[in-house]
Amino acid sequence: MDQAIERLYDLHPGITPVEEGAPHERPHKPLLLLAALDLIDEGKATPDRIPWCQDLRDRFTDRFLQVRKHNDQNTPENPFFRLQTQGFWQAWIEDGNRRIPLQASPLVNQIGKVFAKLTDGLEFTVRTPNDRQHLREALLSRYFPHLSSFKNQQSSIDNHQSLSLVAEDELEYGRSPAFRRTILTIYDHQCAACGLRIKLPAGNDISFIDAAHLIPFSVSRNDHPTNGLALCKNHHWAMDRNLIAPSPDHHWHVSKILDPRRSNGEKELIELAGKSLLLPKDPAFHPDRNGLEWRRERVRA
Ligand SMILES: [Zn+2]
Repeated sequence: MDQAIERLYDLHPGITPVEEGAPHERPHKPLLLLAALDLIDEGKATPDRIPWCQDLRDRFTDRFLQVRKHNDQNTPENPFFRLQTQGFWQAWIEDGNRRIPLQASPLVNQIGKVFAKLTDGLEFTVRTPNDRQHLREALLSRYFPHLSSFKNQQSSIDNHQSLSLVAEDELEYGRSPAFRRTILTIYDHQCAACGLRIKLPAGNDISFIDAAHLIPFSVSRNDHPTNGLALCKNHHWAMDRNLIAPSPDHHWHVSKILDPRRSNGEKELIELAGKSLLLPKDPAFHPDRNGLEWRRERVRA
Protein backbone atom coordinates (compact mmCIF):
# COMPACT_ATOMS: atom_id res chain seq x y z
CA MET A 1 0.00 0.00 0.00
CA ASP A 2 2.84 2.41 0.84
CA GLN A 3 4.41 1.84 -2.54
CA ALA A 4 1.10 2.20 -4.32
CA ILE A 5 0.52 5.57 -2.66
CA GLU A 6 4.02 6.73 -3.53
CA ARG A 7 3.32 5.87 -7.15
CA LEU A 8 0.00 7.69 -7.09
CA TYR A 9 1.70 10.79 -5.66
CA ASP A 10 4.04 10.68 -8.62
CA LEU A 11 1.73 10.48 -11.64
CA HIS A 12 3.58 13.16 -13.63
CA PRO A 13 0.30 14.71 -14.64
CA GLY A 14 1.94 17.37 -16.80
CA ILE A 15 1.86 21.10 -16.16
CA THR A 16 -0.11 23.58 -18.23
CA PRO A 17 1.80 26.18 -20.27
CA VAL A 18 1.90 29.77 -19.06
CA GLU A 19 -0.30 30.88 -22.00
CA GLU A 20 -3.18 29.00 -20.39
CA GLY A 21 -3.12 31.11 -17.22
CA ALA A 22 -1.47 30.34 -13.89
CA PRO A 23 0.41 27.05 -14.41
CA HIS A 24 -1.13 24.05 -12.71
CA GLU A 25 -0.92 20.29 -12.92
CA ARG A 26 -3.30 18.71 -15.39
CA PRO A 27 -6.04 16.85 -13.51
CA HIS A 28 -6.67 14.07 -16.02
CA LYS A 29 -4.65 11.10 -14.77
CA PRO A 30 -5.72 11.27 -11.13
CA LEU A 31 -9.34 11.90 -12.23
CA LEU A 32 -9.35 8.80 -14.41
CA LEU A 33 -7.92 6.67 -11.61
CA LEU A 34 -10.59 7.98 -9.25
CA ALA A 35 -13.23 7.12 -11.86
CA ALA A 36 -11.80 3.59 -12.19
CA LEU A 37 -11.92 3.14 -8.39
CA ASP A 38 -15.57 4.26 -8.46
CA LEU A 39 -16.40 1.67 -11.11
CA ILE A 40 -14.73 -1.11 -9.13
CA ASP A 41 -16.73 -0.03 -6.07
CA GLU A 42 -19.92 -0.18 -8.11
CA GLY A 43 -19.15 -3.64 -9.46
CA LYS A 44 -18.90 -2.29 -13.01
CA ALA A 45 -15.20 -3.03 -13.29
CA THR A 46 -12.60 -5.33 -11.74
CA PRO A 47 -8.87 -4.69 -11.31
CA ASP A 48 -8.34 -6.98 -14.32
CA ARG A 49 -10.98 -5.45 -16.54
CA ILE A 50 -11.72 -1.75 -16.43
CA PRO A 51 -13.92 -0.95 -19.41
CA TRP A 52 -13.62 2.18 -21.51
CA CYS A 53 -17.32 3.00 -21.11
CA GLN A 54 -19.80 5.82 -20.63
CA ASP A 55 -19.92 5.23 -16.85
CA LEU A 56 -16.17 5.74 -16.64
CA ARG A 57 -16.40 8.91 -18.72
CA ASP A 58 -19.28 10.19 -16.57
CA ARG A 59 -17.40 9.65 -13.28
CA PHE A 60 -14.44 11.44 -14.82
CA THR A 61 -16.61 14.36 -15.96
CA ASP A 62 -18.39 14.70 -12.58
CA ARG A 63 -15.14 15.54 -10.83
CA PHE A 64 -13.58 17.27 -13.82
CA LEU A 65 -16.28 19.94 -13.72
CA GLN A 66 -15.39 20.63 -10.08
CA VAL A 67 -11.64 20.91 -10.55
CA ARG A 68 -11.14 22.28 -14.07
CA LYS A 69 -9.06 25.42 -14.44
CA HIS A 70 -8.49 27.72 -17.39
CA ASN A 71 -8.35 25.69 -20.62
CA ASP A 72 -8.45 22.18 -19.13
CA GLN A 73 -10.33 19.90 -21.53
CA ASN A 74 -12.77 17.18 -20.57
CA THR A 75 -10.77 14.41 -22.25
CA PRO A 76 -10.64 11.10 -20.36
CA GLU A 77 -9.34 9.31 -23.46
CA ASN A 78 -5.85 10.79 -23.17
CA PRO A 79 -5.06 9.58 -19.64
CA PHE A 80 -6.63 6.20 -20.52
CA PHE A 81 -3.77 5.75 -22.95
CA ARG A 82 -1.07 7.53 -20.93
CA LEU A 83 -1.64 5.45 -17.80
CA GLN A 84 -0.62 2.53 -19.98
CA THR A 85 2.59 4.11 -21.20
CA GLN A 86 3.48 4.88 -17.58
CA GLY A 87 2.91 1.28 -16.53
CA PHE A 88 -0.11 1.79 -14.28
CA TRP A 89 -2.23 -0.41 -16.47
CA GLN A 90 -2.29 -2.37 -19.70
CA ALA A 91 -4.99 -1.60 -22.21
CA TRP A 92 -6.25 -3.51 -25.18
CA ILE A 93 -8.93 -3.56 -27.86
CA GLU A 94 -11.09 -6.66 -27.90
CA ASP A 95 -11.86 -8.05 -31.33
CA GLY A 96 -13.67 -11.36 -30.90
CA ASN A 97 -11.18 -13.56 -29.09
CA ARG A 98 -8.24 -11.39 -29.99
CA ARG A 99 -6.69 -8.74 -27.74
CA ILE A 100 -4.95 -6.01 -29.67
CA PRO A 101 -2.72 -3.76 -27.53
CA LEU A 102 -4.06 -0.21 -27.40
CA GLN A 103 -1.72 2.04 -29.40
CA ALA A 104 -3.45 5.39 -29.05
CA SER A 105 -6.14 7.17 -27.04
CA PRO A 106 -9.43 5.25 -27.38
CA LEU A 107 -12.26 6.79 -29.37
CA VAL A 108 -15.84 7.31 -28.27
CA ASN A 109 -16.99 4.72 -30.84
CA GLN A 110 -14.70 2.14 -29.19
CA ILE A 111 -16.81 2.11 -26.05
CA GLY A 112 -17.38 -1.48 -25.00
CA LYS A 113 -14.39 -2.70 -26.99
CA VAL A 114 -11.47 -1.26 -25.02
CA PHE A 115 -10.39 -2.44 -21.57
CA ALA A 116 -7.53 -1.96 -19.16
CA LYS A 117 -6.08 -4.02 -16.32
CA LEU A 118 -4.12 -2.59 -13.43
CA THR A 119 -0.51 -3.77 -13.33
CA ASP A 120 2.69 -3.53 -11.36
CA GLY A 121 1.15 -4.50 -8.04
CA LEU A 122 -1.60 -1.89 -8.16
CA GLU A 123 -4.07 -4.66 -8.97
CA PHE A 124 -3.53 -6.07 -5.47
CA THR A 125 -4.05 -2.78 -3.66
CA VAL A 126 -7.58 -2.19 -4.95
CA ARG A 127 -9.16 -5.48 -3.90
CA THR A 128 -11.07 -4.34 -0.81
CA PRO A 129 -13.36 -1.31 -0.40
CA ASN A 130 -11.18 -0.16 2.50
CA ASP A 131 -8.01 -0.21 0.39
CA ARG A 132 -9.77 1.59 -2.43
CA GLN A 133 -10.85 4.24 0.05
CA HIS A 134 -7.21 4.69 1.16
CA LEU A 135 -6.14 5.16 -2.44
CA ARG A 136 -9.02 7.52 -3.15
CA GLU A 137 -8.16 9.66 -0.13
CA ALA A 138 -4.52 9.71 -1.17
CA LEU A 139 -5.41 10.87 -4.68
CA LEU A 140 -7.73 13.56 -3.33
CA SER A 141 -5.20 14.78 -0.74
CA ARG A 142 -2.43 14.97 -3.29
CA TYR A 143 -4.22 16.40 -6.32
CA PHE A 144 -7.63 17.79 -5.32
CA PRO A 145 -7.61 18.74 -1.63
CA HIS A 146 -10.47 21.16 -2.20
CA LEU A 147 -12.92 18.68 -3.71
CA SER A 148 -16.26 18.71 -1.95
CA SER A 149 -16.15 15.22 -0.44
CA PHE A 150 -13.13 16.48 1.39
CA LYS A 151 -14.80 19.55 2.76
CA ASN A 152 -17.53 17.37 4.25
CA GLN A 153 -14.89 15.34 5.95
CA GLN A 154 -13.24 18.53 7.15
CA SER A 155 -16.37 19.93 8.77
CA SER A 156 -17.10 16.65 10.51
CA ILE A 157 -13.55 16.72 11.83
CA ASP A 158 -14.04 20.25 13.13
CA ASN A 159 -17.18 19.10 14.91
CA HIS A 160 -15.66 16.01 16.42
CA GLN A 161 -12.13 16.78 17.50
CA SER A 162 -11.69 13.47 19.28
CA LEU A 163 -12.73 11.53 16.19
CA SER A 164 -10.27 13.42 14.06
CA LEU A 165 -7.39 11.81 15.92
CA VAL A 166 -8.61 8.38 14.92
CA ALA A 167 -9.17 9.52 11.36
CA GLU A 168 -5.69 10.95 11.22
CA ASP A 169 -4.07 7.66 12.19
CA GLU A 170 -5.99 6.02 9.40
CA LEU A 171 -4.87 8.57 6.86
CA GLU A 172 -1.21 8.65 7.89
CA TYR A 173 -0.84 5.15 6.49
CA GLY A 174 1.51 5.33 3.54
CA ARG A 175 0.86 8.97 2.93
CA SER A 176 3.72 10.81 4.63
CA PRO A 177 6.62 9.16 2.78
CA ALA A 178 4.87 9.90 -0.50
CA PHE A 179 4.38 13.58 0.41
CA ARG A 180 7.99 13.80 1.52
CA ARG A 181 9.30 12.38 -1.72
CA THR A 182 7.10 14.71 -3.77
CA ILE A 183 8.24 17.83 -1.92
CA LEU A 184 11.93 16.90 -1.88
CA THR A 185 11.85 16.32 -5.63
CA ILE A 186 10.07 19.60 -6.32
CA TYR A 187 12.47 21.57 -4.09
CA ASP A 188 15.44 19.50 -5.20
CA HIS A 189 16.28 18.73 -1.56
CA GLN A 190 16.89 22.35 -0.66
CA CYS A 191 15.73 24.12 2.51
CA ALA A 192 13.40 26.99 1.54
CA ALA A 193 14.82 29.07 4.40
CA CYS A 194 18.61 28.71 4.53
CA GLY A 195 19.26 27.08 1.15
CA LEU A 196 21.00 24.08 2.63
CA ARG A 197 20.87 21.21 0.19
CA ILE A 198 21.75 17.67 1.15
CA LYS A 199 21.05 15.17 -1.55
CA LEU A 200 22.43 11.68 -1.18
CA PRO A 201 22.64 9.24 -4.10
CA ALA A 202 19.41 7.49 -5.05
CA GLY A 203 18.54 4.61 -2.76
CA ASN A 204 19.55 6.44 0.41
CA ASP A 205 16.34 7.03 2.20
CA ILE A 206 17.80 9.42 4.75
CA SER A 207 17.73 13.18 4.46
CA PHE A 208 18.37 16.21 6.59
CA ILE A 209 15.69 17.99 4.59
CA ASP A 210 12.06 17.51 5.62
CA ALA A 211 8.78 18.03 3.83
CA ALA A 212 6.79 20.42 6.01
CA HIS A 213 3.10 21.17 5.60
CA LEU A 214 2.06 24.82 5.63
CA ILE A 215 -1.39 24.03 7.02
CA PRO A 216 -0.88 20.78 8.96
CA PHE A 217 -2.41 17.73 7.34
CA SER A 218 -4.50 17.04 10.42
CA VAL A 219 -6.22 20.38 9.83
CA SER A 220 -6.27 20.60 6.05
CA ARG A 221 -6.14 17.02 4.73
CA ASN A 222 -4.11 18.69 2.01
CA ASP A 223 -1.07 16.96 0.54
CA HIS A 224 -0.98 19.09 -2.59
CA PRO A 225 2.61 20.29 -3.14
CA THR A 226 1.43 23.89 -2.83
CA ASN A 227 0.68 23.11 0.83
CA GLY A 228 4.29 22.10 1.42
CA LEU A 229 7.78 23.49 1.88
CA ALA A 230 11.12 21.71 1.99
CA LEU A 231 12.91 22.72 5.19
CA CYS A 232 16.02 21.55 7.00
CA LYS A 233 15.42 20.04 10.44
CA ASN A 234 16.28 23.30 12.19
CA HIS A 235 13.96 25.47 10.16
CA HIS A 236 11.20 22.87 10.22
CA TRP A 237 11.45 22.79 14.00
CA ALA A 238 11.37 26.59 14.20
CA MET A 239 8.42 26.93 11.81
CA ASP A 240 6.37 24.32 13.62
CA ARG A 241 6.90 26.26 16.86
CA ASN A 242 5.89 29.53 15.18
CA LEU A 243 9.31 31.09 15.69
CA ILE A 244 9.66 31.72 11.96
CA ALA A 245 7.03 31.88 9.24
CA PRO A 246 6.90 32.33 5.48
CA SER A 247 4.47 34.98 4.36
CA PRO A 248 2.43 35.61 1.21
CA ASP A 249 5.00 38.21 0.06
CA HIS A 250 7.47 35.28 -0.17
CA HIS A 251 9.69 36.58 2.62
CA TRP A 252 10.46 35.13 6.02
CA HIS A 253 9.14 36.65 9.22
CA VAL A 254 10.55 35.89 12.64
CA SER A 255 9.08 35.99 16.12
CA LYS A 256 9.77 38.92 18.41
CA ILE A 257 10.41 36.57 21.31
CA LEU A 258 13.75 35.62 19.78
CA ASP A 259 16.72 37.41 21.36
CA PRO A 260 20.05 37.52 19.46
CA ARG A 261 22.03 38.16 22.67
CA ARG A 262 20.76 34.99 24.29
CA SER A 263 22.18 32.46 21.84
CA ASN A 264 23.76 32.06 18.44
CA GLY A 265 20.87 29.83 17.40
CA GLU A 266 18.38 32.62 18.03
CA LYS A 267 20.65 35.09 16.30
CA GLU A 268 20.70 32.90 13.21
CA LEU A 269 16.94 32.58 13.19
CA ILE A 270 16.56 36.36 13.48
CA GLU A 271 18.86 36.86 10.52
CA LEU A 272 16.28 35.09 8.40
CA ALA A 273 13.92 38.08 8.75
CA GLY A 274 13.17 39.66 5.36
CA LYS A 275 15.05 37.02 3.41
CA SER A 276 13.34 35.52 0.36
CA LEU A 277 11.66 32.17 0.42
CA LEU A 278 13.66 29.82 -1.82
CA LEU A 279 10.96 28.61 -4.16
CA PRO A 280 10.89 25.68 -6.55
CA LYS A 281 11.55 26.45 -10.22
CA ASP A 282 8.09 25.47 -11.32
CA PRO A 283 5.47 28.13 -10.49
CA ALA A 284 2.78 25.43 -10.51
CA PHE A 285 4.25 24.30 -7.18
CA HIS A 286 4.79 27.65 -5.48
CA PRO A 287 3.25 27.68 -2.01
CA ASP A 288 -0.41 28.51 -1.79
CA ARG A 289 -1.29 31.98 -0.51
CA ASN A 290 -3.73 30.68 2.11
CA GLY A 291 -1.13 28.36 3.56
CA LEU A 292 1.42 31.16 3.77
CA GLU A 293 -1.09 33.42 5.46
CA TRP A 294 -1.96 30.65 7.91
CA ARG A 295 1.69 30.48 8.95
CA ARG A 296 2.27 34.23 8.97
CA GLU A 297 -0.70 34.81 11.28
CA ARG A 298 0.63 32.35 13.79
CA VAL A 299 4.16 33.64 14.23
CA ARG A 300 4.62 34.39 17.94
CA ALA A 301 4.24 38.03 18.83
ZN1 LIG B 1 17.31 25.56 6.74
